[in-house]
Amino acid sequence: MTGFTNYEEMFSQSIGLKEPWKVDKAEFDEKRKEVHIYVRCRKTAKYPCPKCGKMCSRYDDEEKERVWRHGDVVFFPCYVHCRRPRIKCSDGIHVVTAPWARPNSRYTLLFESYAMLLMKSMPVENARKIMRISHTSMTGILKYWVKKAVKEDDLSKVRAICVDETSFKKGHSYVTVISDALARRVIDVEKGRDTDTVISFSNKLEKKGGCCNKITQYISDMSGAYMSARDECFPNAKQIIDKFHIKQMMLKAMDEVRREEQGKKQSRKRNAGKKLLMIPEAKQTEEQKTAIVTLSKKYPKTGRAYRMVQQIDDMYKCSDMSEAENIFDKLIRWLRRSRLEPMKKVASSLKSKKQEILNYFYYRMTNALAEGINSMIQSAKRRARGFRTFEGYACMIYLVVGKLNLSCPNPFS
Ligand SMILES: [Zn+2]
Repeated sequence: MTGFTNYEEMFSQSIGLKEPWKVDKAEFDEKRKEVHIYVRCRKTAKYPCPKCGKMCSRYDDEEKERVWRHGDVVFFPCYVHCRRPRIKCSDGIHVVTAPWARPNSRYTLLFESYAMLLMKSMPVENARKIMRISHTSMTGILKYWVKKAVKEDDLSKVRAICVDETSFKKGHSYVTVISDALARRVIDVEKGRDTDTVISFSNKLEKKGGCCNKITQYISDMSGAYMSARDECFPNAKQIIDKFHIKQMMLKAMDEVRREEQGKKQSRKRNAGKKLLMIPEAKQTEEQKTAIVTLSKKYPKTGRAYRMVQQIDDMYKCSDMSEAENIFDKLIRWLRRSRLEPMKKVASSLKSKKQEILNYFYYRMTNALAEGINSMIQSAKRRARGFRTFEGYACMIYLVVGKLNLSCPNPFS
């Protein structure tokens, strides 16, 4: 069998080598099942100083050969070897940066790009197994490229923001996630869930080309911390309380009514109806509808609370504000007269934030766009599972729902 003879060219293109860098030789180590590529560079050429960029003459080579892992060759691990030249610049003697890797990485750029591509579409642990590197190395790659992209992110077009909290480490700590409601992407992840998190974001917004005064819509839950942060940071933004949180509040109160009515023993049973009652009307099957009717007859208080929850859905279906206000007022009266303590409590919370809730109808468009963000964050959370540090967790959220411009090269272009 005759082999192919232009393998030097193949490897050279694969690593992205240009004059004065050149593939010297390539070897297959049969015993260790590894491919090794040796790169050398022209001694008389000039190289850019890694500190200042000035073109300088070669001084000597680094003493020890350096090795980088590259993408597999026919499923065998592949390594690039080189003793990089050193240059003498006015600010000292420096090792030249290899064009195929970022400084201090033990992997080639394409290897890292491929790792990023995998992490975008599967859990880190799965991606790590395919790349066959340590968890630390894998997250090192993730953090480098994500942080770089976040730092360079352009926030000049942001006008509507969603501020939301989400738990981390099984509810032991919280993070605040801020998204661009129009672009439907996460633009900041902050540790904690207090006013300071939003203040910290507002500083980043200004640093990345955005403007606090240009924010016109501020969507959040009812928590005092987030709402007071709006007063402080975004003077021109209209406060909108997220539909998702209103629904959650109603569902929680309904469940309290159910537990009380069914009693401790019955309410904990699997068929007690907890999940059944939470299915949105539009998604119920005929069987589920019948089951809800039966349950409502047996537990009339729960049935009433259930119908109150449906009213909130009806309100959000309204196309204009006055129509929505009408339903809102009726609903509040109904809740207050219901003689169901949890529902009465919800009524007073809702009433105190009436305007902020109804502001939703000023900006239907934005809110419709923002709605998907919650589920996006949930999926990012699942993917970030296994990260023990805030930093890794945040990077995964950025990667999955940040729509970032990663500057690592595309391995398939
Ligand atoms: Zn220099």
